[in-house]
Amino acid sequence: MNIISDIFDFFLPRKCHVCGSLLSDSERVFCTRCVESLPRSRYHLMSLNPMEQRFAGIVPFVRATGFFLYSRHSDLANVIHDMKYRQFPSVGRRLGEIVGGELLTAGFFDGADLVAAVPMHWRKRMRRGYNQTQLIAAGVSDATGIPVCDALEACRAHKTQTAMTLQQRQENLSGSFRVTDPEALRGKGLVIIDDVCTTGATMRTLAETIMAAVPDCRLFLLSVCATT
Ligand SMILES: [Zn+2]
Repeated sequence: MNIISDIFDFFLPRKCHVCGSLLSDSERVFCTRCVESLPRSRYHLMSLNPMEQRFAGIVPFVRATGFFLYSRHSDLANVIHDMKYRQFPSVGRRLGEIVGGELLTAGFFDGADLVAAVPMHWRKRMRRGYNQTQLIAAGVSDATGIPVCDALEACRAHKTQTAMTLQQRQENLSGSFRVTDPEALRGKGLVIIDDVCTTGATMRTLAETIMAAVPDCRLFLLSVCATT
């Protein structure tokens, strides 16, 4: 897939994924203007921001944030949709680089040793061709130099959660994840990365699974998008 998109890049003029304008040599996937106009939450600059409030007292964490503010029918919503469903893996990696780079400058990753994507069950990954959150994690790793760890897996495919309440989601998710390599996480600062945090049920279930398996792991919860 990456080879094919590289070949397309080579023969076709490179255009901004949002506005369609031609990209300069230094721009990738999005033009500078579109990158700047994606709405930031700036949560990471607040003490006890809305993401941290959501998880406070539920799972222990060092920091939590949702980087962009997600709203329906926005440029950001289209970008996320293309990344998930329309076979644009380069979008995920680039988003990860943007988020990682800006949060690194702000000191968000101080004390973090590893990054990991919320795992996707292999059957779903086969169907989709890739796990978009893994691509985001790779982009965050590129921008920060923090290595990606491969110590988590989704052990059963859960039903799609779009129409569920928080409690239904929690029940649907219980037993969904497994720590495959607890030693790799022992005493480490681990950044868990998700694409969109709606109710927080997925992040919460994964965090609980990790804390049960590796109690001295320090978690950073990072969602590319926070819903408003
Ligand atoms: Zn643009």
